[in-house]
Amino acid sequence: MPAAPSPSSGAASTDARRPAGDPAVSAAEKAAAKAWKVDLRELGRRAGSMREWEKTLPARPGWGVEMIGVPEGAPVSLHLRLESVMEGVLVSGTVDVPVTGQCARCLDPVEDTVELDVQELYAYEGSTTEATSGEDEVRRIEGDQLDLAPLVRDTVVLTLPLSPTCTPDCAGLCADCGERLDDLPADHTHEVIDPRFAGLAERFATLNDTRTDTEEN
Ligand SMILES: [Zn+2]
Ligand SMILES: [Zn+2]
Repeated sequence: MPAAPSPSSGAASTDARRPAGDPAVSAAEKAAAKAWKVDLRELGRRAGSMREWEKTLPARPGWGVEMIGVPEGAPVSLHLRLESVMEGVLVSGTVDVPVTGQCARCLDPVEDTVELDVQELYAYEGSTTEATSGEDEVRRIEGDQLDLAPLVRDTVVLTLPLSPTCTPDCAGLCADCGERLDDLPADHTHEVIDPRFAGLAERFATLNDTRTDTEEN
C-alpha cells in the first residue's frame, strides 16, 4: 500500500478560513465544531458493522447561498446510518435543516425546513481510495473521526435555491407602488393622471358616455 501523505485538515475545511478570535470564543467555536465529528472507535473497522446516528446539532456558520441559508446555531436533525466498508465509512440518511431567507420576488421573509438526502463515502487514511483520489474528490476520515459538518454544508449549498420564493407562484411586487401583488386586489392598477388634469379627465369620461349613447340611437 502506498504511503499516504500526512493527514490534512480534511476534504473541505472551512475552519482554515475563519479568523482566530479571542480565546473564549475560539474555545466555544472548537466545541461547536467538535460536536459534528463522529468518533468511529465504537463502529470499528470490520466491514459490515453499522451504527445509527440520530442527533440534533447546532448549525455551523456560513451554510447558505445568497438569499437563503441555515441560521448559525439553528437545530439540524441528523438521521444517519454509518456503515463500515472496505475503504472507509459510508454515511447515508437524511438531514433536516431549518432555513430562513428572503423571497427573491417580493422580498418577504421565507422560513422552511428542508430535508436533505445524503450518501457519502469517507475514506480511511491509507486506503486505496484515499491514495487514488484527490482530497476534494473524496472525504477523509481523520484519525478516528469523521467530520459531518462539511458534508452537510456542501449538501445545503448545492440544494438551496438561488432564487427562493415565499410561494411557488408569488407574483412579486407592483412596479408602481412596490406593494406585494398577492396582497392587492386582482384589478390593482395605477392610472397615472396628473392631479391638475383630473377634472378634465372626468369631463372627458362624461362626454364619451354621452357620445356613445347618441351613436347607439
Ligand atoms: Zn414572494
Ligand atoms: Zn401598485
